[in-house]
Amino acid sequence: MLVDTHGRMVDYVRLSVTDRCNLRCTYCMPANMKFEQTTALLTDDEIIRLIKILSFDGITKIRITGGEPFLRPNLISLIARLKNIPGIQEVAITTNGVLTKKFIPDLISLGINKVNLSLDTLDAAKFERITRRNKFKDVQECLHAMLSHHMQVKINMVVMEEVNTDEIIDFAELTCLQPISVRYIEEMPFNGQGNEFSGINWNYKRIIDTVRSKYELTKLEDAPNATAMNYKIPGYYGNIGVIPAYSRTFCGTCNRLRISATGSIKTCLYGNHMFNVRDLMRSRDFEDINIRAGLKAAINARFIDGFEAEKYFIQDQKESMSIIGG
Ligand code: SAM
Ligand code: SF4
Repeated sequence: MLVDTHGRMVDYVRLSVTDRCNLRCTYCMPANMKFEQTTALLTDDEIIRLIKILSFDGITKIRITGGEPFLRPNLISLIARLKNIPGIQEVAITTNGVLTKKFIPDLISLGINKVNLSLDTLDAAKFERITRRNKFKDVQECLHAMLSHHMQVKINMVVMEEVNTDEIIDFAELTCLQPISVRYIEEMPFNGQGNEFSGINWNYKRIIDTVRSKYELTKLEDAPNATAMNYKIPGYYGNIGVIPAYSRTFCGTCNRLRISATGSIKTCLYGNHMFNVRDLMRSRDFEDINIRAGLKAAINARFIDGFEAEKYFIQDQKESMSIIGG
């Protein structure tokens, strides 16, 4: 088992399969984002080796993320291999939906029917301003195709002051007739353009109060390691959730580990990269047992919460969420 000194068990990996993206969301990366050489990225075999090691120590769930996961060549065959690793009970995916529609049948045949789709506005022009790309139609079509295939869709909306707070109610309204879960995410300081974040004006309380100003909300029971606080509008088909990603109210039950596309290990979103597992795997001196020991030690040393981790953050302050994987 992977347990830290605060008694939290880690059983969930967020695995970034690429640093590349076909959008340039302003809250996530700069317009001129520089990407890694392909040879720097973990290969399929390295990913499988790593997840086998981790599953041996109790990792049961993987979320595929990025960059945009569907830009990775042969993603579907990689997912199929991941699903076959003993102990891996769930593989989920987070995508921007630009290329995803044509892979829906593959995902369904692999038993993946839960997808997190990132969408921050329902307005095409605003979408282009936020993402710096004209791809709104593709994402809309992907959303509709996923729903018509009865996939469970969670829409991730990053709530940004003076950008999309006027659409909070419109997003809640999406849950009226469709089994969609809308998740409002507090904006975090990972836009790769500097860390001059003195706080946020739109925290989870203000977001939920905004929804409450229009609807009565019923609180739903949250899963033990959930990052979202979930609610339902009575009579509506779907539900809504708010993720206090900046306020960090959920650190006490954090069960996750992050692996970047280049093999960098992060045990806390707000903390340092602990070490690079790719380098260990590419070195002849390191066998699985040594890599396991490294991962265990890194998890063991986790800070109690994201605020503590942030105090000791000494690396690149200009980190982009596309590197971390969300
Ligand atoms: N490209 C895929 C996508 O957008 O869904 C997967 C990678 S993206 C980095 C993963 C998640 O991180 C997305 O839901 C995105 O909205 C979220 N995200 C990125 N930057 C963020 C930020 N600064 N604050 C909060 N959430 C962020
Ligand atoms: Fe790309 Fe996702 Fe970051 Fe947007 S949030 S730039 S889609 S990685």
